Amino acid sequence: MSDSSAKTAESRQRELRGRHRHIEVRDLSVPSGWLTVVSNFVESVNDVLPVTSSPFPRVVVDAKEKYGSLRLNVQGTYDLSKDDALETLVDLHEDDAEATCMACGGPASEKASVGFTRRCDRAECAR
Ligand SMILES: [Zn+2]
Repeated sequence: MSDSSAKTAESRQRELRGRHRHIEVRDLSVPSGWLTVVSNFVESVNDVLPVTSSPFPRVVVDAKEKYGSLRLNVQGTYDLSKDDALETLVDLHEDDAEATCMACGGPASEKASVGFTRRCDRAECAR
């Protein structure tokens, strides 16, 4: 990874964390290629949250990569087990990450995704 792409990932993380005041992204331990998936997830969660005047984050999102899978955890005012909409969003975006190259965010290929990695066919994304 070059310096400039590392900086891009860092600024995208900052942007993602500061985007919605009712959602705190606490843990963001995901490969840079998955930042877009997490970003889409946060947008989607924001869309299903009811409007409130609370100045504090009501939802805390943890996003982690484990064994080649994205693990999204949502806590806060919401009990995820009682909210079908949120649960569906989690499932959708976790599936989305499994089909996404960890390096570039493009579509992952079966052939290049060895073990716990999700990679596309491009040479620069291969390990
Ligand atoms: Zn790639």
